[in-house]
Amino acid sequence: MKKGIHPEYYEATVRCACGNTFKTGSTKEELRVEICSECHPFFTGRQKFTERGGRVEKFKKKYGLE
Ligand SMILES: [Zn+2]
Repeated sequence: MKKGIHPEYYEATVRCACGNTFKTGSTKEELRVEICSECHPFFTGRQKFTERGGRVEKFKKKYGLE
């Protein structure tokens, strides 16, 4: 089997613009993303959760955000 045909598969360190890092499988050793599960509005719920009142508090406690 010739080398170079199949890219190596790394456990990539993903660095998000928010400062969060996490691991994922990739053919690159390091990835940079602008949004991740830690800062994406869908996950943080910064807008939606505040509208729903108590849920945001539970969410923050659960994930130790505050
Ligand atoms: Zn992020």
